[in-house]
Amino acid sequence: MTGRKILMNFEVTPDSHTLGAYLGRGGYQTIAKVLREMKPEDVTKEIVASGIQGRGGAAFPAGRKWQVVDPHDGQPHFLIANADEGEPGTFKDRWVLEHSPHTLLESMLVAAYALAARHTFVYIRGEFDQPYTRLAAAVEEAYAAGYFGENILGSGFSCDVYVFRGAGAYVCGEASSLLASIEGSRGYPRNRPPRLTVKGLFQRPTVVNNVETLSNLAWIIAHGAEEYRKVGTPKSPGTRLISISGHIQRPGVYEVEMGYSWAKFLHEDCGGVLHGRKLKALIPGGISSQVLTGHGAKVLTADSVDSLLLDHQALWDVGSSLGSGGMIAIAEGTCMVRLLQVMLRFYHHESCGQCTPCREGMGWAHRIIDRIVSGEGRPEDIDRLLHISKFNDGTTICGLGDAAGYATIAFIEHFRDEFEYLIEHKRSKNDGRLECLPEVANA
Ligand code: SF4
Repeated sequence: MTGRKILMNFEVTPDSHTLGAYLGRGGYQTIAKVLREMKPEDVTKEIVASGIQGRGGAAFPAGRKWQVVDPHDGQPHFLIANADEGEPGTFKDRWVLEHSPHTLLESMLVAAYALAARHTFVYIRGEFDQPYTRLAAAVEEAYAAGYFGENILGSGFSCDVYVFRGAGAYVCGEASSLLASIEGSRGYPRNRPPRLTVKGLFQRPTVVNNVETLSNLAWIIAHGAEEYRKVGTPKSPGTRLISISGHIQRPGVYEVEMGYSWAKFLHEDCGGVLHGRKLKALIPGGISSQVLTGHGAKVLTADSVDSLLLDHQALWDVGSSLGSGGMIAIAEGTCMVRLLQVMLRFYHHESCGQCTPCREGMGWAHRIIDRIVSGEGRPEDIDRLLHISKFNDGTTICGLGDAAGYATIAFIEHFRDEFEYLIEHKRSKNDGRLECLPEVANA
């Protein structure tokens, strides 16, 4: 068991995503209580007091974001649930959308009430088929039962929700490009300020929160901030949904209490590395978080990831982050150069092209890593990759360029010997195979 549960606190059954099942779990009682007993600012105060941090990647305190919006300023406000879960290795919001979409919808109502948001959106990635089907069905059920629309539960509060399907661009998971996409423009990120909470969708104050972040809110209001703070650690309260994939015995989505031991999580809950192999490396929070080495780590303050506890500070202390909660386990024998090649191909493909360092840098880095993997690498290529990666830092509009650079630097810092070996010997130190085991390749 991975600690206390907030979101995965029920048994998944074939109908657990339906309104009937959700009502059976006490669903929509929180919004009824909120509309009956609380003022919008009371809700925001409770969320601020809970200390919940965003679950999309940046871990910014959700309540502080809300405080920028004045619910009484007379302007239209918007709330957006970011369900554009496109970070490679991350599929935890998908679990909520598939198995408990009403948890998200009820929590969105709570947030919309606090923010005086008459109109709300769920921006869902276009490739999500079953999650979209289930979410759309849940929205219909919620409207039919009077939880959305005019004068909800006779309270005088009205709220609509629109489900907006993205078209497959990774960069539209970035909040400002997501808004541009909803407005019908090309999904380009934009510079800040102004912040989206000041000028967001259609130039109005807009809060964009991740699906998992929002989904926690109904529980927090139902149980109180004090109770929420008893879960997790003082600096990182609550739980995280972690999707784990790669070379691991039991991949899937887990709810893990903050402060939980990584050793227990990886070796007991997830059954350890595939076929009993050693953990070579771990990408802790989607490919945009810096890779950590599994054994004899060079930059960790502890001697391996096994000694870590799952919380934001612990990851920041070792130069990485919990990011989007998408863990990728990498077993011994994996060629880290080829793995970086896959990642750089992805970043190059997904760069929107607005910023020169990202547009040109991604293409340049991609061509260099292709050259190295094909056996045509030059000794200076490693430092050139580092140079390109460092040049992106802070010079681009959105985080894609930065993230690609940080990821590349971490790969080279931890596994430089593999890059040097491949360039010198024209073959991988790991026989040129990305997958360490034939069974994995054939899976
Ligand atoms: Fe586009 Fe890259 Fe600039 Fe982001 S960093 S805005 S993806 S070019």
